Amino acid sequence: MLILVINSGSSSLKYQVRELDETGADTEKPVLAEGIIERIGQPDSEISDHAQALDIVSGQLEDVLDGRTIDAAGHRVVHGGERFQAPALVTNEVIRAIDALAPLAPLHNPPSAAGLRAMREKWPDIPQVVVFDTSFHTSMPAEAWRYAVPESWYTDYGIRRYGFHGTSHDLVTGLTAELIGVPRHNFNGIILHLGNGASATAIRGGRSVDTSMGYTPLAGLVMGTRSGDLDPSIVTHLMTSHGFTAQEVDRVLNNESGLYGISGHTDMREVLHAADAGHRGSQAALDVATYRLAKYIGGYHIAVGGAQAITFTAGIGENSAPFRARVLDRLEVLGITYDHELNLVTGSEPRLISAEDSAIKVAVIPTNEEMAIAQKTYQVVNAAQAWGQGPGF
Ligand code: ADP
Repeated sequence: MLILVINSGSSSLKYQVRELDETGADTEKPVLAEGIIERIGQPDSEISDHAQALDIVSGQLEDVLDGRTIDAAGHRVVHGGERFQAPALVTNEVIRAIDALAPLAPLHNPPSAAGLRAMREKWPDIPQVVVFDTSFHTSMPAEAWRYAVPESWYTDYGIRRYGFHGTSHDLVTGLTAELIGVPRHNFNGIILHLGNGASATAIRGGRSVDTSMGYTPLAGLVMGTRSGDLDPSIVTHLMTSHGFTAQEVDRVLNNESGLYGISGHTDMREVLHAADAGHRGSQAALDVATYRLAKYIGGYHIAVGGAQAITFTAGIGENSAPFRARVLDRLEVLGITYDHELNLVTGSEPRLISAEDSAIKVAVIPTNEEMAIAQKTYQVVNAAQAWGQGPGF
């Protein structure tokens, strides 16, 4: 089965064609093609919209597919709100619902809806599935997702914690349980997805019970350019006393804060390099980022009733031994010890880096959101076909 995985950003469209076997598992060489179309809808760009981007994709795929056809498409969608608790087969009503969630994700949901509409028009016979970044976190209890603000802010404006990176947290939760030999439904742990965007998730019984991102992906950990948690009065203070507009504060907190704001670097490799060379700002950025992360881990250890494992994943989590070491050194009080040699091992296999006597296992597990989206797409399409639902129902 050939699955086209699509990730539509506001001005870009990333895609992969993946081949799954008849059981829905990856084939030996699962990625047949991949690419990115950029600058969609930009003033001086020749690509005016997502429909045109798809035309380019189909052109690029012609040679690769060599007469074979795409069986289904799986789309990453950032926001599913409270409605989408699982991946869904795309209908016109589903596209309208994704568009209607635009107030919650103004930069992400409209281009996703545009991509879905363009696909439906271009290839009406290909079943499409949407996989949401938020779905995995719909299992959070109210004590974790409610903010202590007036009830009407929740009922009228949808102000609550939603959480993101769900596809990755979900996948890595299953892989961690497998690695330590615990049935998923009995697994309690903490997943650290540390990329440009970063979030930690508390897993109890294999499900998300808390996560560090909130109403938007700005909350929680220190990220490449995002501040993570801060006192909300800072925002109003900057606006009332220092002449900032709402848009300016928003831009600075999203694009000029985090590691970049403190150190001048967004890439963890550069921050570590500069810190080693004695750069004060980079040392401070690492201190703030690792201290914040350690605090979340301590809190989530309580949230999950005692973690069996802590897993590092995504760009920094998978690749940066020095960053992992700086975090783990702060966790000694939890009885966590790690093997310095194992921490230095690189590779694409899930692996443990904790020492034999560590009270909590520590794992490094590569994430793969495209693979997870392809597999979910396969499952949804198979289930729909079993029920006799064609793509146009
Ligand atoms: P995203 O998908 O959020 O854009 P990724 O998960 O690809 O991000 O992570 C990107 C980040 O991973 C980079 O900004 C970089 O800081 C970090 N990274 C990648 N490789 C390394 C490495 N070898 N050492 C340290 N950091 C790394």
